[in-house]
Amino acid sequence: MWRATVLTLFPEMFPGPLGISLAGRALTSGVWSLEARDIRNAATDKHRSVDDTPAGGGPGMVLRADVLAAAIDAANVAPERPRLLMSPRGAPLTQPRVMELAEGPGPLIVCGRFEGVDQRVIEARGLEEVSVGDYVLSGGEIAALALMDACVRLLPGVMGKLSSGADESFSDGLLEYPQYTRPQDFEGRTIPDVLVSGDHARIAAWRRAEAEALTRARRPDLWAAKIGQNIVSDPRKDTTKG
Ligand code: SAH
Repeated sequence: MWRATVLTLFPEMFPGPLGISLAGRALTSGVWSLEARDIRNAATDKHRSVDDTPAGGGPGMVLRADVLAAAIDAANVAPERPRLLMSPRGAPLTQPRVMELAEGPGPLIVCGRFEGVDQRVIEARGLEEVSVGDYVLSGGEIAALALMDACVRLLPGVMGKLSSGADESFSDGLLEYPQYTRPQDFEGRTIPDVLVSGDHARIAAWRRAEAEALTRARRPDLWAAKIGQNIVSDPRKDTTKG
């Protein structure tokens, strides 16, 4: 079973949205498990304080290294499990990393709050900093939920067999092609003819070409990486399944 252990000052935020729909059903049926542990339980002083003012001055508060380290140690996670710290300074989370995390035993995830966490605990406990984007959240919880959601939907049996992760945005280094469904005519806009042609090779080629054009236009960074890999296909020759 894939396990997530979350260290947070707000355990009541979990499972939150992950208790619903696909992830929620998978949680109930035991495909994965989620343990949210209160960092405050590791506080030792009589006020149960978890934070203190930043050394060197400045606004806000910082999560204490000793308290957080004690919380991590008390969680007693197996050494092979990744230890992540949600952090805007971290490596941006990518679909390949999500796939890796989903294939493993499941991570320990530390959620920061306030101005962040004492640098020494990051080093002493070997935390891998992971970001969900170049913006600042008020805490790591929503970032942790996003990371877990991305992982859980890839676990075997969670999504229907039709919605495998293989064809989606990023898994191939490309954004996904446009999707359509009925009605055939929506306010005068019709579904592209090729998609109703029944010609699977042409459909695959069209989707591939759309995905490449979209990626090129919207995400030159992804496109450059793709070209760098030198595996861009000629869409006219593409006969892969769509
Ligand atoms: N002062 C810090 C931001 C602290 S935000 C800085 O400028 O880097 C408080 C907490 O929210 C962080 O410790 C982290 O756990 C979480 N957080 C904020 N933005 C995040 C992001 N983009 N990705 C992942 N976690 C984030």
